[in-house]
Amino acid sequence: MGTDGAWPSACDICVVGGGLAGLATAWRLAQSGQRTVLLERRVPAGAASSANAGTLAIQNKRPPLLPFFRDALAEWARVAEELGVEIGYGKPGGLHIARSNEDAQRLRKNFENHGALGLAGEWLDAAALRAEAPWLGDGIIAATRSPLDAHADPLRAGSAMAAAAEEAGAAILTGIELRGAARDSIGWRLETNTSALRANNVVIASGPWTGRVAALFGANLPVHPSLIMLSVTEPAPRFMDRIVTHVAGNLTVKQVKNGSCLIGGGWPGAGDFDAERPGIDPLMLRHNLRLATDVVPGLANLRLARSWANFEAQTPDGLPIFGAVPDRDGLFVVLPTAGGWTAAPLMGRLMARQIAAGEEAETLAPATPARFSPR
Ligand SMILES: Cc1cc2nc3c(=O)[nH]c(=O)nc-3n(C[C@H](O)[C@H](O)[C@H](O)COP(=O)(O)OP(=O)(O)OC[C@H]3O[C@@H](n4cnc5c(N)ncnc54)[C@H](O)[C@@H]3O)c2cc1C
Repeated sequence: MGTDGAWPSACDICVVGGGLAGLATAWRLAQSGQRTVLLERRVPAGAASSANAGTLAIQNKRPPLLPFFRDALAEWARVAEELGVEIGYGKPGGLHIARSNEDAQRLRKNFENHGALGLAGEWLDAAALRAEAPWLGDGIIAATRSPLDAHADPLRAGSAMAAAAEEAGAAILTGIELRGAARDSIGWRLETNTSALRANNVVIASGPWTGRVAALFGANLPVHPSLIMLSVTEPAPRFMDRIVTHVAGNLTVKQVKNGSCLIGGGWPGAGDFDAERPGIDPLMLRHNLRLATDVVPGLANLRLARSWANFEAQTPDGLPIFGAVPDRDGLFVVLPTAGGWTAAPLMGRLMARQIAAGEEAETLAPATPARFSPR
């Protein structure tokens, strides 16, 4: 990994961005025999792809991407096997909780949506829940349980996937930023902070920077950053045996293999995207931790080891962007949004299939970049 070897002046496909989406795409493209180069301006999986909570949950996913996320969870199980190194993958199952009548209605609707795809787990009323998970607080009036909710360790999965991509033949160039692009009859000519490179096809996998990278190709993709926080406690003897997600989408809690508890849920941080300074918003953090200790009172006995924040991509309709960019020959985008770490490995596989075999992913049809093109 790096730029010490010979500069690959031409390739079939250049992937721009080495978060999990770019790494998965490069890995699968190289496996399918494409000469693949990945450009990463810093280090692979150095942004959201290592700063996230590692939750791989199905119960907090909604239509229209439910079939895609069902497949994305199955892909993670395959990837954990295929990488052949420890990435902290586990599938303890999860509890999706409701704390008010409004929450409970939402939970019921969610249960029905999942049921229509054969994904519904089990409905638990307050009494059943207390027997099932006595470590939960009193205010929870209902929950659904799914055996499918899982997690993995972002710090280990990113480097394992980078190694797998290189082993499959992809060149991963770190410290290389794409700065310009021009199309001619042969393909794309790409300018970087060091040298130029030719590519027949380009995949933009640049997370919250995707809008800026797309602009280098003259394409308009409305991608904005959001900043979200995460906290981790000191390790503790095991007391939670399920991943907890809130139906309102504002809490995820789990205890990972070393006994630490991870507390997230998309609470906004405070920081500066242009200066690349993600930071904590103390008031929001207090709300996040308050909700977490109400839901799992045992957390209040643990010391907080660290809280941090990082940037995640957002689109106007909240959906990812996946597919060929209209009116730009040989330009593709892989942009996961919320739940993006869960989505990234399957998106990489499906993008490789689209480029190498021309097969479009039906489950990602709602994510087409064409929805932002004027008709
Ligand atoms: C705090 C937090 C918690 C989260 N928790 C979860 C969770 O539990 N489960 C889940 O599924 N998702 C979670 N997410 C979301 C998930 O982490 C992201 O959606 C996912 O990691 C995005 O991956 P990516 O590869 O698209 O982008 P990123 O990881 O942001 O990577 C993009 C890369 O592109 C590079 N780049 C940008 N511009 C250029 C350029 N011009 N040239 C070269 N390289 C460039 C950047 O340096 C960066 O490395 C969380 C996110 C955050 C911030």
